[in-house]
Amino acid sequence: MTSSVTQARRLERLVRGQDTSDGAGVKLKRVLTHDLQQRLDPFLMLDAFGSDTPGDYIAGFPDHPHRGFETVTYMIAGRMRHRDSGGHEGLLENGGVQWMTAGRGLVHSEMPEQEEGVMEGFQLWLNLPSQRKLCDPWYRDIPSSEIPEAHLPGHIRVRVIAGRCADVAGAITREQTEPLYLDVHFDGGDDTGLFSHALPGHHNALVYPYRGTLAVCGATDTQSVPQGHMGVLRNEGDGLSLRGTSGARAIVIAGQPLREPIAQYGPFVMNTREELMQAVEDFRAGKFV
Ligand code: MN
Repeated sequence: MTSSVTQARRLERLVRGQDTSDGAGVKLKRVLTHDLQQRLDPFLMLDAFGSDTPGDYIAGFPDHPHRGFETVTYMIAGRMRHRDSGGHEGLLENGGVQWMTAGRGLVHSEMPEQEEGVMEGFQLWLNLPSQRKLCDPWYRDIPSSEIPEAHLPGHIRVRVIAGRCADVAGAITREQTEPLYLDVHFDGGDDTGLFSHALPGHHNALVYPYRGTLAVCGATDTQSVPQGHMGVLRNEGDGLSLRGTSGARAIVIAGQPLREPIAQYGPFVMNTREELMQAVEDFRAGKFV
C-alpha cells in the first residue's frame, strides 16, 4: 500500500552544488550550503562526494571535533573507517550508513580504507533541538544488509534510512525533527512507476538524483531535476510525487523544522554565540569525550 497523495508538492528551485574540499583535501560537492540552513531547517549541510581518482579522497578527514548536531554518512560505494574519542570504531562500506550524534562533543576521524576505485556517497548534517544539543554522544553503524527496503508497484525500490515509507519503518527514527531519508531506485525501465509519499506541508524537503533525471510531478506542473542537482520542494500540499528515468536513483530528505536560532562556527552548531564560544573553550580544554 503506497500512501495516497492528492496535492503533490511542486518544485521551488534547483540548486547546483558548489565544488569545494574539506578534511585534509577531499574533493566534494556541497549541495546544501550555509545560506540554505534556514530554508531547509532542520538540515544544516549536505555534501555529495564521488570520484574514482584516489587523489580526490585519499587524504580523508583526520581527527576533528563536532558538537550540537548529528552527522549521517551514506556510502554508495567505497570503504571508510571511523574512529572517535568515545572509543567507537567502525567500517562504513558499500550501501551502509553511519549515524553519529555528536551531542556535547567528540573528536573523530573518517579515513578511506581503499587506495583505488570509486568512492561515492553523502554526508548530511541534521540539527539537534536546543535541549538535546549537549546530550551524550551516540553512534551506530548500519550495514547495507540491515537497511529496510520497501518494494513498491512500478519497480520502485526504496531504501529506508530514516523515517517510514509505505509500511516499512526505517533504520533510524527521531522525535522532533522526524527526519525522512530515502534512497529511491527506479528499476523498471520504460515500465517505471510514480513514487508518491505523504508528507506534512510544513516539513522541509529536498530531492537529489545521483543517477538519471528526476521529474517532480507537482499538482499543477511537472519539472525535472537533472542528475547532481538538488531540488527544493515547496511547502504545500500533502505529499510528493516523483518519477525517475530508467535506472534513476535519488535521495529524498525531509524533516520537521526546529525554528530555533542557528549559530555555527565550523564543526560546532549551537543556538547562540555564547554557546559557540563555550564549545571552542571546552574543546580546547579537552572536555570533549
Ligand atoms: Mn566529521
